[in-house]
Amino acid sequence: MTKDFTNEARVAIEAVRQAAVVCRAVQSSISRDAIEKKDKSPVTVADFASQAVVCRALHAAFPNDAIIGEEDAAELRTAAMSPFRERIVGELTGIGVTATGDEICDWIDCGRANDFRQRFWTLDPIDGTKGFLRGEQYAISLALIVDGRIEIGILGCPNLPVERESRAEGTSLPTSGSLFVAVRGQGSQVFPLNVSVAAGRRIAVSQTTDPRDARLCESVESGHSAHDDSARIAAALGISQEPVRLDSQAKYAVVADGRADVYLRLPTRKDYVEKIWDHAGGVLVVEEAGGIVTDVDGKPLDFTHGRGLDRNRGVVVTNGPWHESVLKAIADVLA
Ligand code: AMP
Ligand code: MG
Repeated sequence: MTKDFTNEARVAIEAVRQAAVVCRAVQSSISRDAIEKKDKSPVTVADFASQAVVCRALHAAFPNDAIIGEEDAAELRTAAMSPFRERIVGELTGIGVTATGDEICDWIDCGRANDFRQRFWTLDPIDGTKGFLRGEQYAISLALIVDGRIEIGILGCPNLPVERESRAEGTSLPTSGSLFVAVRGQGSQVFPLNVSVAAGRRIAVSQTTDPRDARLCESVESGHSAHDDSARIAAALGISQEPVRLDSQAKYAVVADGRADVYLRLPTRKDYVEKIWDHAGGVLVVEEAGGIVTDVDGKPLDFTHGRGLDRNRGVVVTNGPWHESVLKAIADVLA
């Protein structure tokens, strides 16, 4: 019998919405001056605040669940980080959550789990920190994994428009933002991020099989995915359009919603192990929208090894019809 995860989804959705409010407030306060100086403090504040907000909600509702989050509070508890703690206290006050710095650190540390469990959550409080700092795309990604299977995948994308007519670019900053929700067996939906509405829009991958129409997306950062390899793979597939580059798991969202057809994440070095929180939320959003996700060798992503996708190499996301040809082109080019 399949279990009903309605309550888990409700709690997780509200947690991501609340975290997004904090992230937005911090991102909107970043000055041009701070961008030019490459000041990383805004993302530090937002990252910790977001993890605190999500872990607080999950822990209150499901106290026995482990959470594998990207952050822990060890450094934040030190004296040197006291100004950051104060800023985070301030950001949480701004959304009506009154807490001390110590309480906030304790919530963050609810997400400190490392090991695989029969049932656990995984959280990236701000995926795409470089995009966040540039004022572009980032995502809050949350997933529930039970018996190694993703049951709930949620992506909060504060700078991604809800309407699919909008282009999948990182530069325009709409007012609403998107919340993508997938529950296994129930499809994927998109909702406006900043208003609680009952009805979302069901989303589905494209049916594109003609390379002339195909849109490929990839990381902005060439250190996260090999741009030169993807250009060779695109050429081998006959894709002529320039790749769309955007930060974060917003890439999964645009494939799930048919705004792009392929997302390639190609290893830049042999020893890099992908982190589960960089993928789990996005994977279910794509699969429930009809797409396929594997690694570059065609293997399913394996979420049973703790923090890392230890048994996988890179990630390949497609609308489905394209998958085999993309894997073949990758095998030829990377051989
Ligand atoms: P993206 O926004 O798609 O470029 O991905 C951002 C994520 O890339 C971050 O959350 C990091 O965890 C991850 N990352 C860092 N270094 C690497 C790397 N060498 N290869 C792949 N991903 C990386
Ligand atoms: Mg990340």
